Amino acid sequence: MEERILIVEDELQLARLMELELDHEGYAVKVSHNGREALGLLQEEEFDLVLLDIMLPEMDGVEVCRRLREFSDIPVIMVTARDAVPEKVEALDTGADDYITKPFAIEELLARIRALLRRKNNDLKEDSNMLAIADLVIDKYKYKVKRAEEEVELTKKEFDLLVYLVENQGIVLTREDILSNIWGYDYMGETNIVDVYIRYLRSKIDDPFEQKLIKTVRGVGYVIRDDQE
Ligand code: CA
Repeated sequence: MEERILIVEDELQLARLMELELDHEGYAVKVSHNGREALGLLQEEEFDLVLLDIMLPEMDGVEVCRRLREFSDIPVIMVTARDAVPEKVEALDTGADDYITKPFAIEELLARIRALLRRKNNDLKEDSNMLAIADLVIDKYKYKVKRAEEEVELTKKEFDLLVYLVENQGIVLTREDILSNIWGYDYMGETNIVDVYIRYLRSKIDDPFEQKLIKTVRGVGYVIRDDQE
């Protein structure tokens, strides 16, 4: 999977050079020459990392970073025009993850990008809001589910059921386990509600995909498991 990098740089030659180098390294690259436009792109599209020049037309890099941090924790490398300590401090204060001073060796930039992306991927795994099995990812705080990078719409109950299964992945859960955890001990409705909801869930997260994750354990209940692991 290609990682997407946004380059925000108004010096056209430098922007072009970085674009070529990063493209050559296998990243998917987009370039913006203007701070305001870049912020718009960051709101609309998903990127894995931003290279953000400080001196930019319309909105400077520090302001872009400040606003960006209101809605995203994407890794940011600030690019400072000279070895200016106050600028660097300001850049890091607004939530940039790293900075690099012009002129820089492209190898150094690439090394810093790799380091930040590696850190980001590790954070994602450790982040307790995030659950994952195979290519399915759940963000518990944002109530979002993705399978193979595609967002899947679930109802609240379907979502709760999926979270419960994934938190217990590899463990067979009985209908009673599921019923008491998702519907509560005092649930008085139809007992086949678990099977009904498992069917709903399968139709959304399994049926459209080749690898099936939810398995039926006959006479017992259900388990979510990644057999290809
Ligand atoms: Ca500039």
